[in-house]
Amino acid sequence: MVLRGCGECLVCGLKFVVRAGVGLEQECAHSFDCPNCFSPLTVKVKLGAPPTAWYEFLENCRVAEEDSPDLTVVNLHPSMAFSLEDYHSPQAFPSLDFFDLVDAAMRVPAGTRHLDVSLHFELPETKALWALVKSVMSLHSNGDPAGVLPKQIARYSEKRREYLKEFRCSTTFKCITSFFDDALHPAIGNLRRPLRGLVRDLRAIQGQAVADFENYYRAELESDNFARYSALFDDYFSNFDQFRQLLAYARVGRDDVDELIVGAKRFNDVKLYYGQAYETLTSAYVTLACLNNINHGRSFDTFAAMSLTKYIKDLNKAQKSAPFSAAPVLAAFTKWEDSALRNGSHHAAIARDGERVKYRSGGTGAEREMPYSRYLHMCNGITIACAALMLVELQEFSTIKT
Ligand SMILES: [Zn+2]
Repeated sequence: MVLRGCGECLVCGLKFVVRAGVGLEQECAHSFDCPNCFSPLTVKVKLGAPPTAWYEFLENCRVAEEDSPDLTVVNLHPSMAFSLEDYHSPQAFPSLDFFDLVDAAMRVPAGTRHLDVSLHFELPETKALWALVKSVMSLHSNGDPAGVLPKQIARYSEKRREYLKEFRCSTTFKCITSFFDDALHPAIGNLRRPLRGLVRDLRAIQGQAVADFENYYRAELESDNFARYSALFDDYFSNFDQFRQLLAYARVGRDDVDELIVGAKRFNDVKLYYGQAYETLTSAYVTLACLNNINHGRSFDTFAAMSLTKYIKDLNKAQKSAPFSAAPVLAAFTKWEDSALRNGSHHAAIARDGERVKYRSGGTGAEREMPYSRYLHMCNGITIACAALMLVELQEFSTIKT
């Protein structure tokens, strides 16, 4: 469903039409550039009882009464970006393009109560669910001092049953994995499955070495890794309205995003995100590096040319993937690594200029740029890699195992 509304830019007086796809969230904010004066405008789509939906005009704009076919159109969609020709087209129907994009990756869960086919790909009320998942992760980490963990898991389960009546979940593990798997499939599974297969194979032939790593993981890595993952995903889902406009592309493995126009842009909210995700992922590479050691018949902490301490303490972040770059199952996690973009994002040496993102890399400080759509795509890709690695750590090595 497309919700149409007329607004007026309070800066330059331009009257415009917004056409926004109505998604599955109770509210969705869209910030975009005024087509005339390029000031940031923000509108919010709010959902009442179906099929009721309306706009709130927030930053730099107000509702305008008159409507006319001559007004400039701005298309917005929570889960889709636009081609240049569609961005201002009154005939754009991004929901149809969305289904074309995700059709092959849809899965129809048993007991689906809603006929809305978008539920076969998207996780309804993702942000509300994340708040519960985050609480479950945190309670598990701090030992659940007030004994409320089962209640929070039950709340998550109940929320999922609003859309999936067969859904059942009674463990921390299922709560976390079901959330990330449903929000990020199929890409997350494409990373997770082969890595789990490798761990299973290694357990069969190098059982003691894997058990040694598991002990090390629980003692030295688990707590810090989960704190980093949790902080990262909290930032990701806080800005989900931004990232989800490109998320379907990363999920289904489409990389042709450079020509796409993202309707809503709140760059200041996401400009540091890539740097944070890069730190989280490269910090967690120690798991992949140790598995690579075992895969080469060595103990988990014996590298070909260095000690584990040196790997953790001395190796530059950009070199952390080098030891396992020849192992495809492990190297798949490095696809979204871009150390120049990390330097720009991490040090806030990054800015948006229309549809481009300009950033300065470390070292030479040379200015580089990429399309804004690709920046969001990179953020989504690296987030999926982090989530996949977290789920494998959770399932294979952590104290939260089933
Ligand atoms: Zn304006």
